[in-house]
Amino acid sequence: MTQSGPGGRHFLQIPGPTNVPDRILRAIDRPTIDHRGPAFAKLGKRVLDGMRWVFRCKGPVFIYPSSGTGAWEAALVNTLSPGDRVLMYETGHFATLWKTIAAKLGLVPEFLASDWRRGADAAQIEARLGADAAHAIKAVCVVHNETSTGCVSDVAAVRAAIDAAKHPALLMVDTISSLASIDYRHDEWGVDVTVGGSQKGLMLPPGLAFNAVSEKALAAGRHAKLPRAYWSWEEMTGPNAGGYFPYTPSTNLLFGLAEAIAMLEEMGLEAVFARHARHAEATRRAVKAWGLELLCVDPAAYSGSLTAVLMPAGHDADAFRRTVLEHFDMSLGNGLSKVSGKVFRIGHLGDFNDLMLAGTLAGIEMGLALAGVPHRKGGVQAALDYLAGARQSAAEPKKAAVRS
Ligand SMILES: *Cc1c(COP(=O)(O)O)cnc(C)c1O
Repeated sequence: MTQSGPGGRHFLQIPGPTNVPDRILRAIDRPTIDHRGPAFAKLGKRVLDGMRWVFRCKGPVFIYPSSGTGAWEAALVNTLSPGDRVLMYETGHFATLWKTIAAKLGLVPEFLASDWRRGADAAQIEARLGADAAHAIKAVCVVHNETSTGCVSDVAAVRAAIDAAKHPALLMVDTISSLASIDYRHDEWGVDVTVGGSQKGLMLPPGLAFNAVSEKALAAGRHAKLPRAYWSWEEMTGPNAGGYFPYTPSTNLLFGLAEAIAMLEEMGLEAVFARHARHAEATRRAVKAWGLELLCVDPAAYSGSLTAVLMPAGHDADAFRRTVLEHFDMSLGNGLSKVSGKVFRIGHLGDFNDLMLAGTLAGIEMGLALAGVPHRKGGVQAALDYLAGARQSAAEPKKAAVRS
């Protein structure tokens, strides 16, 4: 259709949806099968089991044909009752959206305010729970990787805070932009409901969402009074045991999910997390060399999935992003609500490698020059030096092993 397209692939460097690898595209490109027939059961069991491995949990994982927002709603309606208090932490735009949903559903969210430049403060959560002697708060909700800011919350620390306060609240965590990108352990960290989505670290198109669920959350569900039908875990449980779903699942996306799980198994989750951390560090070195500022101010909270960069005062992040799109056919993430126009976000998650990152950073550095944004040159070089150095140090122990 385009008369003189740019040539080559579009660079989709927003923090989700992410680039879908050819292997997954090929897996999806198959005739849809009967979702009540015998062949489906094998696929259903494979993805339900595989997702337990990705979430690192032994309990059930529920898979919905929906965007991530649906899984937010599912987590709440399956466990809580009208008027229940939920303690949420304002890490950024996505935490704010989850809070809005809770309020619309008839819950009473209590929002611990923050400046969008760090992860959730476990001490603040502990203090609030400690003051709730009547145990009016029924759930604590935290976004693991806040996609609007590039800050990660320490979920193990939040668990420890709930335990220290000896509080029975459920712990719910949104991992939509961290699952299969940043280390996450549903069981080990004592999470009751983990929310996930298909279109970020899992490398799939949008359209699947997940709830990983603890025994405690299932038990809470038996007494929870919020109305639920489409999202009901109870309706899922019976059919899921045989590898089936209560209504028509996204069959072709499940073909893709089985392929994504196979790819993650081949690469190993630890190696996938290490790759994301390496690309994030290389990106931050580029940002520093350009003389620009990161939105995230806490190095312990730096995200492996994305980097949010503040624009110099007087320069519009969206005008800069337009320049990059027009000249280099690359999409960068925009600033959301509070930071609209003030930040741009570099997605470096999912199916991604060193040279794709090099291309991404080159497009940004050229874009900064073309858009007249004050910066220093050399960001790309700083990133390349780091990436090459990381290769070198990874190669050395292997060489030593060969010699001995
Ligand atoms: C993308 C994202 C969402 C929203 O998911 P949708 O699929 O757009 O509904 C929620 N939370 C986080 C942390 C996200 O990154």
